[in-house]
Amino acid sequence: MIITLKSRSPKLEIDKVIKKIKKLGYIPHVSQGVDVTIIGMIGERAERFRDSFEAMDVVDHISEIEKPYKLASREFKQSNTVITVAPGVIIGGNSIAVMAGPCAVESLERTMETACLVKAAGASIFRAGAFKPRSSPYAFQGMGDKGLKILEKVKKQTGLPTVSEAMTAAQIISVGASCDIIQIGARNVQNYDLLKAAGKQKKPVLLKRGMATTIKELLLSAEYIMSQGNYQVILCERGIRTFEDATRNTLDLNAVPVLKKLSHLPVVVDPSHGIGIREHVGTMAKAAVAAGADGLIIEVHPQPEEALSDGPQSLLPAQFAVLMQELSRVAEAVGRTINTIENDK
Ligand code: PEP
Ligand code: MN
Repeated sequence: MIITLKSRSPKLEIDKVIKKIKKLGYIPHVSQGVDVTIIGMIGERAERFRDSFEAMDVVDHISEIEKPYKLASREFKQSNTVITVAPGVIIGGNSIAVMAGPCAVESLERTMETACLVKAAGASIFRAGAFKPRSSPYAFQGMGDKGLKILEKVKKQTGLPTVSEAMTAAQIISVGASCDIIQIGARNVQNYDLLKAAGKQKKPVLLKRGMATTIKELLLSAEYIMSQGNYQVILCERGIRTFEDATRNTLDLNAVPVLKKLSHLPVVVDPSHGIGIREHVGTMAKAAVAAGADGLIIEVHPQPEEALSDGPQSLLPAQFAVLMQELSRVAEAVGRTINTIENDK
């Protein structure tokens, strides 16, 4: 249930409600508006305590959220969640964050080269996987911890914050220590223990929709993370599996406005995995911005024919640079800007 406190309640009174929730064995989820504080008390049979909270002077009213996901819903929090990834690098505000880089960390030299190129083109976050979830056990599995060390060096040299995937609870800790955003990939969107581990730490989480995950299921996965106290969740549409086999996946851009309506969380789009064909990635990236995406995650590789994973969908750095110019015009047409580190300095 959702406990809405009276406008401008004193901190002492707010703390009493929080304390009472904790005493009853629930986690209080506090959403602090300008004047009004809303506290979520979510969990089995929380409603049986409704009367006792209603009797408190500081409580204005109590309501229920009908949706199965609560903290992720617009009912719980009306204003958009804005996530500060690094100084000046924001996801969920008016500006659109572009994350770019290779599918995987392959070597220090190549990763650094790619990071410098995407930064020069205007990307504000660097992407690259150190742990790779591959369909075949014989395919390149990623550089692992060595890859994370490379990402640390890239960040130090370029100033770009980084996003990288974690597939186990242990990797959540190591990726979280080295990178600025932890990615949970399409294959793990319903790995509930992993989601809980991501919820128990403080770094923002980029949560990718699964190949056969409904919008409701994606929001319930976000709820798993948020239920543990980490509210910094970025939702990512990356294509779903349909009968269509002319493209790698079917990028469901419907999900963008629908998620934005149902949830306050930022929504980003991955056109690279969404369509899987280099030639069409830019078109879908522009369409995603027009549809209201708060960010993009795009694969870029200086020698895609030599890439150890996802070469066919990786843009060449020059193509990415042209796309960034086009994206800023589409963003302007929909009343937004592209978030670049330079812009915000
Ligand atoms: C990736 O970002 O390289 C990746 C593996 O993505 P997904 O989980 O969406 O397939
Ligand atoms: Mn990839």
